[in-house]
Amino acid sequence: MKRVISVIAIIAVVAISTVNVQAQKKVKGTVTTTEVCERMPIIGVSASETDAASAPLTYVKAIKRAGGVPLVIPMTTDKAQIEAVLEVVDAVVMTGGEDVDPLKGYGEEPLRALGEIVPERDEFDLMLIRMAVAKGLPVLGICRGEQLMNVAFGGSLYQDIPSQVPTSYVKHSQKAPRNYGTHTIDIEEGSLLNKQLGVKSIAVNSYHHQAVKDVAPGFKITAYSKDGIVEAIEKVDSDCVWGVQFHPEGFVSMGDDSFLGIFKHLVEKAKEKRK
Ligand code: MN
Repeated sequence: MKRVISVIAIIAVVAISTVNVQAQKKVKGTVTTTEVCERMPIIGVSASETDAASAPLTYVKAIKRAGGVPLVIPMTTDKAQIEAVLEVVDAVVMTGGEDVDPLKGYGEEPLRALGEIVPERDEFDLMLIRMAVAKGLPVLGICRGEQLMNVAFGGSLYQDIPSQVPTSYVKHSQKAPRNYGTHTIDIEEGSLLNKQLGVKSIAVNSYHHQAVKDVAPGFKITAYSKDGIVEAIEKVDSDCVWGVQFHPEGFVSMGDDSFLGIFKHLVEKAKEKRK
């Protein structure tokens, strides 16, 4: 993903929205507690780092479209920094990216088909997601973010679907536009994803060679592809911790609202948590 957004720009957006709230206070003179609580929810977005601390613009656009203010969180393994940023954000999106280190993540030797791993990003992501969930914040995991959510709470992954799952026949690494669904998923009735999308079956985009293998204790699988690959999980005792293997932001950022319900749910739960 070439298009990135700088952390500074996002912080500027947050600063501007804060200023607006203060401006309203002054103009109206008397502001009720409810009005103060109506500040827009800030949605943290886990960053990757190459030469910039960045997240793909698709995530940023999708969060904005759902009514949230995206705030890119640069990588860090400093617990105090993560604690500080979790005081600021009202929810977190764990983004897609590299493979998770199987040895450190779930105690498996790396297979030859394993892709690139970034140990520091793994450490940051695992700390961020565990601390966010412990704090009761809504968390949406997307692609790597969903896999990482599973690993963070004790689950495991297929390191490489083509070489490890002989029964998998669906193409999960599509060569098609990001806002085009190429394979079907079947969604569990009554699950978070089912409620968010309003359907039991839908065509999703697919850019992964890894997937959830053993689901983490306390989580359940809520969607499968036709070849039995896990396409969504959720935390069973929560209504706001869940992950999807596909990329809803790829649709929403391009103006296709079929998947907007996923981000709307995150933003609504973020608002509830703040009160
Ligand atoms: Mn897929």
